[in-house]
Amino acid sequence: MLITKLKAKEDIEALVTGKVFIVNCHGCKEVSFPEAEAKALQKELCDSGKVTGILTTDYICNPENMKLRLEKHRKEIDAADMVLVFSCGVGVQSVAEYFEDKKVCAGCDTIALPGFQGVTPLEYKCDQCGECYLNITGGICPLTACSKSLVNGQCGGAKDGKCEVDPNMECGWERIYQRLKMLGRLDLLKVPVQLRNYATDKEV
Ligand code: SF4
Ligand code: SF4
Repeated sequence: MLITKLKAKEDIEALVTGKVFIVNCHGCKEVSFPEAEAKALQKELCDSGKVTGILTTDYICNPENMKLRLEKHRKEIDAADMVLVFSCGVGVQSVAEYFEDKKVCAGCDTIALPGFQGVTPLEYKCDQCGECYLNITGGICPLTACSKSLVNGQCGGAKDGKCEVDPNMECGWERIYQRLKMLGRLDLLKVPVQLRNYATDKEV
């Protein structure tokens, strides 16, 4: 099991710049979704005139399924400056990969519970760390894309874009750098050093 928990309201409001398209993933049966809280917050955003559209669906971690559903909202998505996703970390990464030149943000943190965690055929994963970093890493998870799970930038050991721990994989932080560069958000690399709050790991 895992739980998606809404980020603090002020943090979400600070993320929303310009017009926003919202994606809710009600997930698979392994995921608990904060449906009522998300709905209340999204109503406020709608009332403020910032929302171009909302897609509420499931399994956005299934790329083919997700693309078909998102494309039905193409006009609303094009009219938005960003996409705000309420889902587990895998879902947010799936949308960020699809719209890699658009600002995609996570509205939730993902927290692990004991038991079956679900399966995904995707390369990117979520470690359910309880403190989602995707909003400052261009939608690429530093915990799972980096061999050392570094949250404060590249270790300096990468060679030709490959990880020093596993030369068969791309350096996660090189990918984060390239994604932020594409988004024109290299300023996010100047966010003060991120410290992991391990108290959020595997807690509700
Ligand atoms: S930073 Fe990574 S491990 Fe943590 S919640 Fe986000 S996607 Fe999951
Ligand atoms: S080379 Fe890149 S992916 Fe590998 S441990 Fe260092 S920062 Fe992480």
